[in-house]
Amino acid sequence: MKRELAFFEGKIVPIEEAKISIKTNSFHYGTAVFEGIRAYWNDEEQQLYILAGKEHYERLLKNARAMFMDLPYSAEDLVEITARLLRESEVKEDIYIRPIVYFKDLKLTPKLIGYQPEIAIYLYPFGAYLDPQKGIRAKVSSWKRNDDNAIPSRYKIAGAYVNSALAKTEALMAGYDEAIMLNANGYVAEGSGENIFIVRNGKVITPSLNEHILEGITRALVIRILTEDMGVEVQERPIARSELYIADEVFMTGTAAEVTPIVEIDNRPIGDGQVGPITKQLQSIFFDAVRGKVEKYRELLTPVYK
Ligand code: PMP
Repeated sequence: MKRELAFFEGKIVPIEEAKISIKTNSFHYGTAVFEGIRAYWNDEEQQLYILAGKEHYERLLKNARAMFMDLPYSAEDLVEITARLLRESEVKEDIYIRPIVYFKDLKLTPKLIGYQPEIAIYLYPFGAYLDPQKGIRAKVSSWKRNDDNAIPSRYKIAGAYVNSALAKTEALMAGYDEAIMLNANGYVAEGSGENIFIVRNGKVITPSLNEHILEGITRALVIRILTEDMGVEVQERPIARSELYIADEVFMTGTAAEVTPIVEIDNRPIGDGQVGPITKQLQSIFFDAVRGKVEKYRELLTPVYK
């Protein structure tokens, strides 16, 4: 990245100018919604590809509307603004894009109406978030996932990440890499920033979208790769904690986490404790797809440079 710029209050500006007041309403109450988007550099093509830009901005706009934050942009407008931000910043590496919608009002009441929503977008150079090669060790958290009727886990609400932060911190302090949270019903929900899948007898199982989880965009892509390209059956159903320990393979998905294998949970090796064959094949197709190397998935990519 040659220049550090941000989209702020309708304009692309140097990052130093993208500042909010300490009185900003959403800073106090977590009433912001955000996204995490990746763009991947393809060295052979000298091209940067935004992955699933339209899908991420559609999710953001829908989440924002549910929080009474109406923005004067379409998903297409926001993809175009992001492409411009990446071009003007001269990004030629893998990068993470963080759009955030917040109430800019300098007012005290925690509410969602009568305030002015604003969107900011900034960039963050980013390699692997966890360890997709070796896999990670995870801990079932003592913290329950937000109940959808308390702080909707379906939306990417800033304040909901207190729940993620508590679980991730507990896992890190206990010497693990990531947390697995159960929902209030006691079934497996998701990681602090990832959806979760298990493999049993050649079938892949993942919690359904009614299990108090985020509607992950990587989750949807991975289900497509498994069913359409690998001929693997995917079931969406509740998973009990006890089922994790006897799974053949477990992996997590997310924009940051990509496809990350879990090789150990609560001191029990998963399968033989190595990255399993379904996870490996899935990773190989996934990492080709995000860099534009799989024809059918190129429709998910927005080239940044003309
Ligand atoms: N669950 C949570 C709690 C997350 O923060 C994320 C990351 N956005 C995911 C799942 C994965 O979602 P996506 O694949 O859309 O990044």
